[in-house]
Amino acid sequence: MTDFNTSDGREAARKGIAIVSTGGTIEMLPGLGGLDIADGQNPLPIEGGVVPAGIMVEHVKFCSLPSPAITPTLMGELSLRLEELSQSGRFNGIVVTHGTDTLEESAFLADIYLKTEVPVVFTAAMRSPTELGVDGPRNVRGAILAASSYEIHNLGVTVVLNDEIHAAGRVTKTYTSNVSSFASPGYGPLGFVDQDRVLLHRKPLWRVQLPPGKLSMHKDVGLVKIAAGLGAREIRHSADCGDRAVVVEALGRGNVPPEVSSAIEYAVERGVIVCVTSRCYVGRVLGVYNYTGGGADIERKGAILAGDMQGHKLRLLLMAALGMGLRENDIRTMLERL
Ligand code: ASP
Repeated sequence: MTDFNTSDGREAARKGIAIVSTGGTIEMLPGLGGLDIADGQNPLPIEGGVVPAGIMVEHVKFCSLPSPAITPTLMGELSLRLEELSQSGRFNGIVVTHGTDTLEESAFLADIYLKTEVPVVFTAAMRSPTELGVDGPRNVRGAILAASSYEIHNLGVTVVLNDEIHAAGRVTKTYTSNVSSFASPGYGPLGFVDQDRVLLHRKPLWRVQLPPGKLSMHKDVGLVKIAAGLGAREIRHSADCGDRAVVVEALGRGNVPPEVSSAIEYAVERGVIVCVTSRCYVGRVLGVYNYTGGGADIERKGAILAGDMQGHKLRLLLMAALGMGLRENDIRTMLERL
């Protein structure tokens, strides 16, 4: 691993950027059956002009996994490691390389947990190092520039891919294969990396944050996506399995089929915290419909309507909140602002 090498080979007694690697396509090479991370020894693209002149980088290997293998527990450990690095006083910024599939979850967890002013920027590659038009090196360079930039302070954790800077709370992978996959539907990017310049166009006024405390992830939180005629059995199953909370990705404004409404009541009666979000890409849930299964009906039955947060992020928020000992009322208050 290179310790504080500047791209022009000078050693300098300055702080630098930590590049924390976790795996993903950015580290993968083709094998007989397709892309794989192999023995985790594939090089990260931090050579050959990727690191802008005058910036020192230190590579910190956290793990080397395809991101579907990164569990919430590991995401929690990653957040704790980022906290440690940010508090070490050694770095001006931190870049995390990650597989694109669950990048938004790891970045979101770090965003709601970290209280640091040291910029933390996640990046990745949609294309592997040997593919034509590889995007990893450019994305890493953009992320290093963003993490070194003064403007990026106090924005929370950000995600840089394809020259765009996104807020971790809003960004999502929208396309299975295209390099322009990462977007923030309904919000747009915070800014851009244009060659060597970092240009910010907006700042989030507010974002959800966990209260101070040591991060720990509660394991028993379910996630059920509602579709026509689907969801009741899954919610009952979640309650019967002893889940402490379940996220319901409801239809439209936060509505569910009538039998799902009864299943929500069943879960609430058994002490399960039921949080509702929408399967729509954009917009908040709200109790505007009063019919059986409408948002107003399930809210009366004890469900918590959770604004415009995506289901998989909301699940991580609940896992962290419960793991850190928050009670249902604290969670309700936290989610009311969404
Ligand atoms: N399947 C890969 C992963 O998430 C995709 C990627 O990194 O782009 O690890």
